[in-house]
Parts: sequence; C-alpha cells; structure tokens
Amino acid sequence: MAITVTPIPGLDPAVNDVRLRTAALINAEILPNEEALWRTQRSGELDGDERERARHRSIELREEIKAKVNEAGLWAPHLPEEHGGMGLDFLELAYMYEILSYAVGASALFGIAAPNSGNASVLVKYGTEEQKRKWLLPLIEGEMQSGFSMTERDHAGSDPRSIATEAVREGDEWVINGHKWFTSNGIDADFFIVMCRANDPSGELGATGQMTQIIVPTATRGVRIVRGIGIFGHDTSDHCEIRYEDVRVPVENTLGRVGEGHQAAQDRLGAGRVYHCMNSVGQMWRAFDLMVERSLTREVHGGLLKDKQFVQGFIAESYMDVQSARLMTIDAAQKVAAGSPDLRTAISAIKVFVPAAFHRVVDRAIQVWGGAGVSNDLPLAGMYLTARVLRIADGPDEVHKILMAKNIVHHFETGEGWNFGA
Ligand SMILES: Cc1cc2nc3c(=O)[nH]c(=O)nc-3n(C[C@H](O)[C@H](O)[C@H](O)COP(=O)(O)OP(=O)(O)OC[C@H]3O[C@@H](n4cnc5c(N)ncnc54)[C@H](O)[C@@H]3O)c2cc1C
Repeated sequence: MAITVTPIPGLDPAVNDVRLRTAALINAEILPNEEALWRTQRSGELDGDERERARHRSIELREEIKAKVNEAGLWAPHLPEEHGGMGLDFLELAYMYEILSYAVGASALFGIAAPNSGNASVLVKYGTEEQKRKWLLPLIEGEMQSGFSMTERDHAGSDPRSIATEAVREGDEWVINGHKWFTSNGIDADFFIVMCRANDPSGELGATGQMTQIIVPTATRGVRIVRGIGIFGHDTSDHCEIRYEDVRVPVENTLGRVGEGHQAAQDRLGAGRVYHCMNSVGQMWRAFDLMVERSLTREVHGGLLKDKQFVQGFIAESYMDVQSARLMTIDAAQKVAAGSPDLRTAISAIKVFVPAAFHRVVDRAIQVWGGAGVSNDLPLAGMYLTARVLRIADGPDEVHKILMAKNIVHHFETGEGWNFGA
C-alpha cells in the first residue's frame, strides 16, 4: 500500500514540498519495485541464470531510481549543498526520513546509507581539503564504500575508554595494531575510519594514548578481514571482524586533530542515533499500515481480524507507539537543529524509546499476519531484527538510561526542576 502524506498544517511550505515529493517517488518508483530491487538478497528463491538476471535487473533499477532521486533534487539530504546534498537541517531531515524509510532500503537510493552517511558527515566536519577530495567526494558519488571501526572484540563497546587499538607514530606514518569487530559494511568498504589510541613516544605528542580517528584504506597491507560475523542464525553478514596488524598509513590520514577522536565519534554517533530513530519511525509506519491492511481482509473464526478486540488493541497500542516515537524524534531533531543545551538527554531518550516501540509495533504486525509475518514475502521479519539490534548498537539502552538520569538529577542538584518545555 502507498504511504498517505498530506501537507502538515503550520509546517514550513518548503519542508511540506520535500515531504510530498519524497512520498511521490516512494509511491510511484520504489514501493511497486521493492521485490525487484532487493529480490536477489533473499537467498534460495532463484537459481543460476535466473538469479544472475535478477541481480543485473536490480542493479539497473537501483541506478535508474537514484537518477530520478537526483533529478528531483532529493539526493543526500543530510549533506551541505556545496558537497552535492540538499543541506537540510535536522528537523527538516526528520520530516523527510520518516517518509523515505517507509520503503525497504530506500535510504540507500537517496544517498544516505549507513555507515557511509555518518562517515561523510564526519569528513565534512573534520576532513582536510585533501581528505575531502580523496574520500568524501567518491563516497558522495557512490564510487566508494566505507566503514566505521570502533568496537573491539575483547573490550566493552559500552565503555569507549576501554579501546585498546594503538597507533604509534614512526616518522611520517602511523603504525596501527588492533582487533575490531562489528565494523558494518566491512565486506564492501574501500576505507575504514578507525578509532585508535595515538602514541608518539619520541615526538611532541608523547605516549598519551589520546583517542584519534585515522583513515585506513582497506587495501593497505596488514588489514585483515577475518570474517563477516554470522548474526541471527545467518552464516555471515557485512558486520566484520577485522584485525589491523602493523598497518602503516601516512599521518595525513589523521581525521581531525590527535585527541579529537572521542568528540568526533560523539558527533557522529549523536547524529547517527537521531537518523536511526527517523528511519525506525518510517518503518514503524509501514508495519502499522501492513497490520491494519491485513486486519481488513483476513477472516478468522467467522469474522474479520479488524473486528476482534485483541487486534483492535494491537491497532490502538501501535498508533500510540508510532505517534509517540515520531513526536519524540521530531522533538529531539528540533533540539539538535537549535543546539539545545539538554540535547543529549533528548537523544538518549529516543535512542531507548524508539527501538523499543519499533520492536513492539513490528511484533504486533507479525502476529496479525501469522506465518506470513515471519516469511521473507513481507519486510516485517527484517524490521524485527533491525529493531532488536538497535537496542544494542549506538550504545546499549542501559548506558543511555544512566546518562539521562545523571543529566536530570544534575538539574535538581543545582536547584532547578526539569523543564519539559525547553
Ligand atoms: C548489527 C550491529 C552493527 C554494528 N555496527 C557497528 C559499526 O559499524 N562500528 C562499530 O564500531 N560498532 C558497531 N557495532 C557495535 C555496537 O556499537 C556495540 O555492540 C555496542 O556499543 C555494545 O558494545 P558491546 O557489544 O561490546 O557490549 P558490552 O559493552 O559488552 O555490553 C554488553 C551489555 O552490557 C550491558 N551494560 C553495558 N553497560 C552497562 C551498565 N553501565 N549498566 C548495566 N548494564 C550495562 C548492556 O545490556 C549491554 O548490551 C554494531 C553492533 C551490531 C549488533
């Protein structure tokens, strides 16, 4: 079914226009082609030549749709105009993303697939002109892929202070050693942004071990992709375990200043969390529509599902979940756009609330669809796994709850109450 979008009263007409044009593309070009666009990624359905033809057709189709997105001026909405994007601010993005993520995989067709989009934003903010020319432009133009390599197998990802990957300066080079895992897009990436502790024992930096991001091309000697980690019962995935063994890259590959790595990661992850919530809202909207649509036609025990009170409960609860997740995400996006001082509380709140609400909505939609709900014929099973992962990725929920509580308590300790209107 098509997404139903009309202008939001009181919203900037330019943003309403972006929403309507995005919905038009989603409804006319992407939803009717979802099967052909992503079919070859569902293993086991096609054999031999048929599979190869479907793969070619899906690649062609993706390129055709990307061209239409470009023509419509909707490409890379998160990037500044001078870097080929739309230059939307966070609030405008929230209003656009909830529509485009209604369709499976559509964000990639609008030039905003993670982790490339996050890496592009970090390169825009921290990259030198040379780094932008070498890494950012090909990333934006889709000629290169990238990964963000921070989490380590043997240290808690929840606690960034535990990172042990080391970059030691030798002359004009960094020598990197470390063991990362869950580096997404690792199979296709042409380069990684690697979070390291930088040491320069004989230089002015000293052996300080300050957090630093370094760009490492995948083809560099010593970068060893150990495996795509199998997840949720699948044999492999593009979330990779990677060993960096005496990897040498020029010091010009330092992204930002030495010691700025933690701040750059926070910038990236803060923005990423809001993007993930915006995407989740669009997918919840889709799951909600699928659930209600099915309830109108599926007959069980002498009546339609829509008339059964269990299902009416699902519909009402899901409406509340989608709308509250949506409004909290828009509120957080507004705070990011305005640079609100309590931004981190709002971002942590959606990081915890939205994936959980997403999980509940998809779970109900799967239940209403019965066996079909867990099949690959519908996008629900994939959404379910995404929602589960989001409770861990971007920092697990517990860490965000602790941060929220600390921020809130701090206000009270300094004699203020919490200002929900700020
Ligand atoms: C599909 C997927 C994709 C990912 N992509 C990337 C990527 O591209 N790049 C990258 O660098 N990383 C990536 N990650 C890694 C992700 O960021 C980490 O898994 C996450 O930060 C948690 O770290 P951890 O797995 O080491 O869990 P740990 O830090 O070991 O934490 C385990 C659990 O402990 C609990 N916990 C943690 N702290 C506390 C506390 N203070 N109090 C109570 N309980 C606590 C939480 O329940 C948490 O889930 C990805 C992960 C997944 C699953």
